[in-house]
Amino acid sequence: MSFKSTIEFIKSIYPNKGFIPLHEPKFIGNEKKYVLETIESTFVSSVGEYVNKFEQEIASITGAKYAVAIVNGTSALHLALKCAGVQNNDLVITQSLSFIATTNAISYLGAAPIFIDVDLQTMGLCPIALKEWLLTETVQKINNESGKIECIHIGSQKRISAVVPMHTFGHPCVVDGLESICEEYQIPLIEDAAESIGSQYKNKHTGTFGLAGVFSFNGNKTITCGGGGAIVTNDESFAKLAKHLSTQAKLPHVWEFNHDMVGYNYRMPNINAALACAQLEQLNAFIDNKRELALMYSDFFEKIEGIVYKSEPINSKSNYWLHTIQLKDKEQRDLFLAETNENGVMTRPTWTPTHLLPMYKDAICGDLKNTSFLAERLVNISSSVRA
Ligand SMILES: *Cc1c(COP(=O)(O)O)cnc(C)c1O
Repeated sequence: MSFKSTIEFIKSIYPNKGFIPLHEPKFIGNEKKYVLETIESTFVSSVGEYVNKFEQEIASITGAKYAVAIVNGTSALHLALKCAGVQNNDLVITQSLSFIATTNAISYLGAAPIFIDVDLQTMGLCPIALKEWLLTETVQKINNESGKIECIHIGSQKRISAVVPMHTFGHPCVVDGLESICEEYQIPLIEDAAESIGSQYKNKHTGTFGLAGVFSFNGNKTITCGGGGAIVTNDESFAKLAKHLSTQAKLPHVWEFNHDMVGYNYRMPNINAALACAQLEQLNAFIDNKRELALMYSDFFEKIEGIVYKSEPINSKSNYWLHTIQLKDKEQRDLFLAETNENGVMTRPTWTPTHLLPMYKDAICGDLKNTSFLAERLVNISSSVRA
C-alpha cells in the first residue's frame, strides 16, 4: 500500500512548504508588544501584571474559580499532586498511554504509578476498566489517625491517593464517569489536561471535573508561552496552597524572608505570562482553524482504506491539538511513518507506553490491551494552525 495520496493531500493543506512540521507555534497577535512591555518595565520575573492577568484569563476560559500560573506543565502536575495529598509510598492511578511527564510527576513525590487501560474511542483512562480494577484489587479502610476512608491496594497494602486521567491529543476522556468513581472511592481526581486547553466535555471545560486540573503551554502545544503551565481548581484552600508552594512558601512581608514549608520555585515569570496572554487572545481562532482541518481530514480519510481518522468522541468538543490516525497494524504504521517523513511530511507514532519504559517496567498494571492496540497503530499527522 502506498500513502502517496495522503502525502499529496497534506501538502495541499500546507502549500508552499518544503518541510511540514508536526505542530508549529504561531505568533500573529500581540506577542511582541506584550513581551516588549515586560522588558521595558523591567518586570520580567516572578512578579508582574501579566501573571495576574494570565491567571484571570485561564479561570475565565475554563470556568474554574481559581487558576495558578506555573513554570511548566510537569511542575504543575507535581505541585497539584502534592497539594492533593500524594505522599511518599502512596500509589497513584494513571494511564500508560501518555507523555512521560504524567507518571514522572507521581515519582517526584515518592509515589508509584498504577497503569489502567484507556478506552479505544477517547484514548483516555477508561471508567469501566478503572471500576473493575478497583472492585477486585482494593478495599476501603478507615485510617485510624485521620478518621478518613482510604482506598487500599490489597496486594501491596498501599494507599491509592489520586487518579490522574489524561485528555489525549486534546480529545476529552469520559471524565464524568471517572469523577463519579473517584467520589465513590473517595480518591482525589487530578486531570492532566496539558493537551486540552479549550476542549470541553458535556459543555464543561476539561480540567474542571476533579479536585484540580493541569495545563501546559510548552512550545508544541495548542498555544505556547515558551514554557508554561497552570493549575485550575474550585477549591480555595487548594489554590492558596498551590500558589504558596509555587513561590518558595514565602510568608508575605515587606522586607523579611520567612518560609513555613518546603516550597518550590515554580511561579511562571511575567515575560512568559505576557506571551501567554497574547496567545490566549487567539485561542478560539486557533481552535476554529484546527476544527476546520478536522473536517477536511475526516472527509479525506473516509475514502482511504486501512486508515481511521480519530474524530472527537461523543459528548465533547476537542481542541484537536494533534490530529491522529489509526493504521491497520504496526507494519502499516511503520510504512506510513517512513513514507511520510521521507517526503517532507513530519509524522510520528504515539509515545512508547510508560509501563514498557525501564523505570516503570515493574509497576502495577491492569489489563492494558487497548493501550497496546493503540500504541502500535496511532500516528500524529500535520496539525499546525494554517495560515
Ligand atoms: C506536554 C505535556 C505535559 C508536560 O508539560 P510541559 O509544559 O512540557 O512540562 C504533561 N502531560 C502531558 C500529557 C503533556 O502532553
